[in-house]
Amino acid sequence: MAKIKVTYRKLGKEQVIGLAYLDHNEIELDPRLKGKRHFEILIHEIMHIQNPAWEEAEVIRKSRQMCNLLWREQYRRCDNTSKSDL
Ligand SMILES: [Zn+2]
Repeated sequence: MAKIKVTYRKLGKEQVIGLAYLDHNEIELDPRLKGKRHFEILIHEIMHIQNPAWEEAEVIRKSRQMCNLLWREQYRRCDNTSKSDL
């Protein structure tokens, strides 16, 4: 199974906060996404790539279910940055 690439770009113009490019195994997320919302949208876009036939409503339902469960189990993003551009 091909690796899914994740990139970040402000997506205001597209009226979305995340995009999945099914043909390229690539996800674009708005860098302003934080915390649980970031987690949910990341899972959501992964599910679009893994399940291209699913309707939007099904992706929303299943990504929220997975996000809520993993969040309840205390999975969080860990920032291990050791250098700063500032
Ligand atoms: Zn979607």
